[in-house]
Amino acid sequence: MALDSKIQGLYSNRLLELLTQIGQIAEELGLKAYVVGGFVRDLLLGKANFDIDIMVEGDAIPFATKVGQELNAECKLIERFHTAHIFLDNLTLDFSSARKEYYPHPGDLPEVSFSNIRDDLYRRDFTINALALSINSNQKFELIDLFNGELDLKEGIIKVLHSKSFLDDPTRLYRALRFADRFKFVLDSNTEYLFDKAIKLSYPSSLSTKRIAAEIEKCFKEKYPLSLLNRYRATGLLAYYHKSFKGVTRPDFSFSMVRSMTTRLRSKFPNIIESAVYWSLFLSSIPFTESQPLLNNSGLPHSVGLQTVNTLSSWQVILTKLSLANTRLEIYNILKDTCPETLALLYLKNKNKEIENKLNLYVNELYSIKPSITGKDLIEAGIEPGPQIRQILDKIIEKKLENPELNRKEELDLVGISNI
Ligand code: ATP
Repeated sequence: MALDSKIQGLYSNRLLELLTQIGQIAEELGLKAYVVGGFVRDLLLGKANFDIDIMVEGDAIPFATKVGQELNAECKLIERFHTAHIFLDNLTLDFSSARKEYYPHPGDLPEVSFSNIRDDLYRRDFTINALALSINSNQKFELIDLFNGELDLKEGIIKVLHSKSFLDDPTRLYRALRFADRFKFVLDSNTEYLFDKAIKLSYPSSLSTKRIAAEIEKCFKEKYPLSLLNRYRATGLLAYYHKSFKGVTRPDFSFSMVRSMTTRLRSKFPNIIESAVYWSLFLSSIPFTESQPLLNNSGLPHSVGLQTVNTLSSWQVILTKLSLANTRLEIYNILKDTCPETLALLYLKNKNKEIENKLNLYVNELYSIKPSITGKDLIEAGIEPGPQIRQILDKIIEKKLENPELNRKEELDLVGISNI
């Protein structure tokens, strides 16, 4: 079955041309090339997916290099893994060499050797992800379905390719639930049996904290993270990240509000990191003395880890202080150095209307109050550089909090400077 009309229907003609061009380059080099994985699965489901994985029978490095040259695109080679990334328009094309995998120890990363399409598809997690699309001209846009993935997609079934799959790589347990939850699919009966066995025999205990954290992070990117997190929790998969995430609990609906809360705050705080808000909320139920070392081992991007630690170390104290604050100045002073991720968590954890009003007052009004004059103005007016500059500016802010209408002249009068 040729899938070019499906590609045309979902994407621009440009993508079809691009894949045709890449197929021609493969042909010139005497190689067979395929689009594999999520792109093909989503194509059959009628969903667009802009992560394009191209697999070639042979070495992907010279292939991607030539594609980069001919398309005049930036190409990043990762020689050690025989993979490459090409950045073109708004697309990332990932190139890999068809390979066979061998797992010396469960949970470890596999040893790999060059191989053919069959082995490459067989090493994949589920039949629905083991589909390929040939891009060579003699088989252009033909679906390669060696393991009945198309039928499983139609029937809504998640099925492993062999019975050792979960033992080889227990992250597939998390992936199975992620795809089941995303597409409203079910595990086929044998896969479910293998899933239960894997849980009973504690396969995920061979995974590092970092690998489990990567699965949790992916869950935060799903449309409904709460539903998936609850499944991870109910099946026991979450307890491998931290022992307190055990058993079925009441769902914490704040998770479904993270996205809208982050969007709302982003208009004032453009740098807010959604992932750090998710991590903060996720870890807020365990003591900071335990969440901090866990985060250090989770391999999160530096900025995500930093803002999560900042938030988890401070949110409870801030909430208590806010409950006692009465004046605009007190509220301002409590929140002025708070990062936006912490503000988001305060909103999500707080159940008290008065505190919510104080947060709103800060975000909607107090945060934007700034002096019209700057430190530079003060130095030009003859004030010695040093801590007194900060003190003067703080004094002006204090007065502006009471009277936001103060103009530049009145600000200067306030601190006894008549002209700049
Ligand atoms: P998503 O839509 O979540 O990005 P995806 O299927 O594209 O889904 P990736 O994690 O980008 O997911 O993986 C790309 C492909 O690599 C998968 O479709 C699958 O074929 C294969 N793959 C990824 N992780 C594993 C794994 N742990 N075990 C086996 N195959 C995997």
